[in-house]
Amino acid sequence: MKKKAIEKIPYLGLKKTSRKKDVKYIGVTAVKIVGHEKHLFLEVYRNHKGSKDTPEVRIVLTKKDFGTYWPEREEWTRKKAETGSYGGLIWAERINTWQQAEKENVLQSTEDLERIKKFCKVTVYREERWWEYINRHEDDIVITERWNREHRKYMRRQEALADRMAHTEELPEKKILERANRVYFQNEHYLYYKKHGSRAKIACSKCGGVTDARWRSGISYESQFQRWTEEPREGRYGTCPMCGARGKYKCQGKVKGTSSKSISLFLGQKYKENGMVMRYVEVEKKWILGFICGDKGVEMHNACEELSGTEIARAYFEPGKKTQIDYLKYNPYTGKNFWDDCNLHGMENISIKAGTVMQETYEEMKETMFRYSALQEYAKSVGELNPIDYLERYIQTPQIEIMVKMGLDNVAEKLVECYYGIIADQNARRPDHFLGIRKERVKQLIRKKGDIQLLEVMQMEKRQGQNWTDEQIEHLAETNLSGVQVEMATRYMTLQKLLNRIEKYAGCEYGTECGSASERIRNTATTYTDYLSMRLNLGYDLNNTVYQQPRDLGAAHTKMVLETNKEEMDKHLKQAAEKYPEIRSTYRSLRNKYFYEDDSYIIRPARSAEEIVMEGRLLHHCVGGDTYLSKHNTGKTYILMLRHKTEPDVPYITVEIDARNPRIIQWYGNKDGKPDKENMQAWLDAWLMKLKTGTLTETIQTVEIEIA
Ligand SMILES: [Zn+2]
Repeated sequence: MKKKAIEKIPYLGLKKTSRKKDVKYIGVTAVKIVGHEKHLFLEVYRNHKGSKDTPEVRIVLTKKDFGTYWPEREEWTRKKAETGSYGGLIWAERINTWQQAEKENVLQSTEDLERIKKFCKVTVYREERWWEYINRHEDDIVITERWNREHRKYMRRQEALADRMAHTEELPEKKILERANRVYFQNEHYLYYKKHGSRAKIACSKCGGVTDARWRSGISYESQFQRWTEEPREGRYGTCPMCGARGKYKCQGKVKGTSSKSISLFLGQKYKENGMVMRYVEVEKKWILGFICGDKGVEMHNACEELSGTEIARAYFEPGKKTQIDYLKYNPYTGKNFWDDCNLHGMENISIKAGTVMQETYEEMKETMFRYSALQEYAKSVGELNPIDYLERYIQTPQIEIMVKMGLDNVAEKLVECYYGIIADQNARRPDHFLGIRKERVKQLIRKKGDIQLLEVMQMEKRQGQNWTDEQIEHLAETNLSGVQVEMATRYMTLQKLLNRIEKYAGCEYGTECGSASERIRNTATTYTDYLSMRLNLGYDLNNTVYQQPRDLGAAHTKMVLETNKEEMDKHLKQAAEKYPEIRSTYRSLRNKYFYEDDSYIIRPARSAEEIVMEGRLLHHCVGGDTYLSKHNTGKTYILMLRHKTEPDVPYITVEIDARNPRIIQWYGNKDGKPDKENMQAWLDAWLMKLKTGTLTETIQTVEIEIA
């Protein structure tokens, strides 16, 4: 769009406004030559006497381009005439109904319509909707542009693909097949057989021949002409009586005709300057046994072997570039294979399996960006691998080289699998910083080949600012406990105590390397810490060694589970209420006897069994147990609640008194503590004195009087 030149062209102007009340906008057109090219101008004016000189909008079309100029804002946009699928127009304030739009937006003359129709060369169904010509034309331009863009992108990709193919050396196919047969299929041949008494028909996959042979001399005349062989046995190796090749015996009855084995191979080659192409080849060996219908049914006819290789993918690595993987695809219409720069989608997705890296790769690698990648060392330690994954990871995290060279194989393997969570600092050069462990730990980790569990414990040690012994580290790794679990437990006991207890509860020692013992240690560790955290969550004080070391861990764990479960709790409350109903029914009379309050505190008997259970739970002491409930229920001792007058519903102190001889047997606050001890003891003593002297009610009256 030659915007500057177009802006210099004066507005066409509206010749006259329309007298029809419905008309709101009037379109005026003209064809002008700008820079040797025909341009269609469409200017839309408001149907208003004062708006005849300047249009609302000027739309300019050429064959391949369009633009929209807004005089008021002096601005160009590339919006199409229609604003959306509902037929709104860019110059109109609001979206009208179908019929209204036709009445509100008109052209100045029929010549205008003809001009538009001639220029746009598209079909619309109603000429009254003349703006649709414009919109369609604009649409076509946009679509063509998009298609061109896509096409250009596609062409660029195709060119790049062709360039890669041109710079890829020929695959030494013969060498690969030969190697595969010798190293991976061990020159495997089959001797198919079918026994008849002391003779057998034998088919050899190597030479393809079929013959009769015997291992005991026969009495028949023909038998003296038959070849000799050893007696064939399934799965054993023997020698072909025809060509002398060694082969594995396979009973004819167990063969379905064809059997095959395949392996994956990777061959890396230098690519361009110092890049590399890793080529993924699948080699398949087939053993085929041919049958024929003989006189006595199916007979072996011939046998053969087939070795074939297919290159399936190529991964190109170049410094500073994204890894590009090309795949071999099959076109069912042409029946031909072709290379493409992307994988297939969904189920058809071509996967690159782990395989063997051919030795030649490492020689080629010496002159590429991967000379220090330690791929060879890594392959040696893991055996089969996907070197494409490894090299991609190496580009991302070059420290993987050090990990491999130090012998931290497990760490390297995790990185290749993309478990980046094990790295503490991606930019660190030193292994201890990289892994987030104490410097002294590196050697120990190397001894264990970078064992991940060990690493995690070492990271835990560093994170928690601890300094554990080698043995503690190894034992803790065996428990498989998480940092959170260890941190929680070691708030209440030393790490050694935790480890010892796990060992004791599990009943087996650390470091036995026996599967079932390790399993037991892991389970016990989980159960124990689980037990501890439930106890903690239920509000028990874990500093209490009785809670720390339950006699029966399993039972204690179960108990905690039940307590944690609210339904169980409700059931427990209901049971207590049913079992100790007297607590509720005697409340009134007991209240009259023991109730007392002053400005600060209030004391009263328990209202019900449930209340006592809840009191024990909330204050984390043992008043909720059967002993106290039953004593209160039978009227031997009573449980009283002492609370702040301002918070009469919040448990504060629980008091047990003798029912017959008024005396305080014991009193406790939260977690068996005695809060505000001297003061509260004095208060209770004063209360007891009033109780003994029968003056509790008097004081209440005094208080009432004071208030009044
Ligand atoms: Zn043979």
